[in-house]
Amino acid sequence: MTTRIETEALVIGAGPVGLFQVFQLGLQGIACQVVDALPHVGGQCAELYADKPIYDIPGIPVCTGRELVARLQQQIAPFPTSFHLGQQVKRIERQSDGRLQVDTTAGKLFLASTVFIAAGVGAFVPRHLMLDGLDAFLGTQVFAEDAQHSRWAGQHMVVAGDGDAALQTCLQACEGAEAAASVTLLHRRDQFSARPERVAQMRQACTAGRMRFVAGQPTGLRAEGGRLQALELLNPQGETEWLSLDVLQTCLGLSPKLGPVAQWGLAMERKQLVVNTENFGTSEPGIFAVGDINTYPGKKKLILCGFHEATLAAFGALALLRPAEKTLLQYTTTSTLLHKRLGIA
Ligand code: FAD
Repeated sequence: MTTRIETEALVIGAGPVGLFQVFQLGLQGIACQVVDALPHVGGQCAELYADKPIYDIPGIPVCTGRELVARLQQQIAPFPTSFHLGQQVKRIERQSDGRLQVDTTAGKLFLASTVFIAAGVGAFVPRHLMLDGLDAFLGTQVFAEDAQHSRWAGQHMVVAGDGDAALQTCLQACEGAEAAASVTLLHRRDQFSARPERVAQMRQACTAGRMRFVAGQPTGLRAEGGRLQALELLNPQGETEWLSLDVLQTCLGLSPKLGPVAQWGLAMERKQLVVNTENFGTSEPGIFAVGDINTYPGKKKLILCGFHEATLAAFGALALLRPAEKTLLQYTTTSTLLHKRLGIA
């Protein structure tokens, strides 16, 4: 039986607001566990604009998405926090003792006294190729998750995509003992978003006959005996052609999907969780929602608004977890208790 990880607080989402939530809980003396669908922390800052500048974080005139995430990680370093990355929270269920059981796609089970949903615009999951009937082959011949040698060894492989991941996968698949029988890169036109050096490597491999590039837009498929045989393509000349394959690996980037959050029985408005602005609690006691995932009159999807929400949500959690304690406002400048929690001598 899977052991349940007991925790006072579980944060769903390690975007900027989820990370700051960890900090605010730490100041209140509440240790937490964090789950994120991505294999790394940082949410939109890391995934969508890691190298772009942000100008509206208080006290930081300019920093990139990546730098902000690094600073937030540095800020939470004093607090013992366990991160469970690369897995999505599927379910939250109230237990008979009032605590919340949370389970993830990786089979982890948590028993949490409070839950903080900092799920932003949803979990970042691989984008799928939209083609009628293709989903039937997901996991057997069609793969959207990380590419693996075992899937392509000795197989006729098609890789769909135009970014670094797609080109890199092609280059890996046409080399070594576990090479594919053939490798075809498929993209709608002969232009790529991958780095120029990667594009040059791909073109070199095509010239050397180790792989090939086919331009075209998938429009249909052919299957026989329960196996995917070929993709129908519309090529740039407007003609239809067929591309035979054993394995299709899509590398089309990640996109956020609200996913299971909508099934947790919480009050929602236009795909966002309704919260009160006193402590950012949702319609369920003990479940808070902070950052881009919540809505309330005047809501603005800005990082600094999420930071404010996380601060009040941590006070809200303290009132629930330690009802006998007074929720005193203390300054980090002067409080010896906060200094102790922050590890400052
Ligand atoms: P997110 O950053 O979206 O993080 C949510 C995390 O939750 C994700 O990592 C996701 O994988 C995870 N998650 C979701 N569901 C689950 C689940 N079920 N299980 C596990 N994990 C889950 N804001 C500003 O204030 N200033 C700016 O200059 C600015 N520039 C921006 C530029 C761009 C191009 C974009 C797209 C946004 C910008 N924003 C800016 C908005 C800002 O990025 C968001 O407000 C901020 O990221 C919200 O943080 P968050 O932590 O709430 O959510």
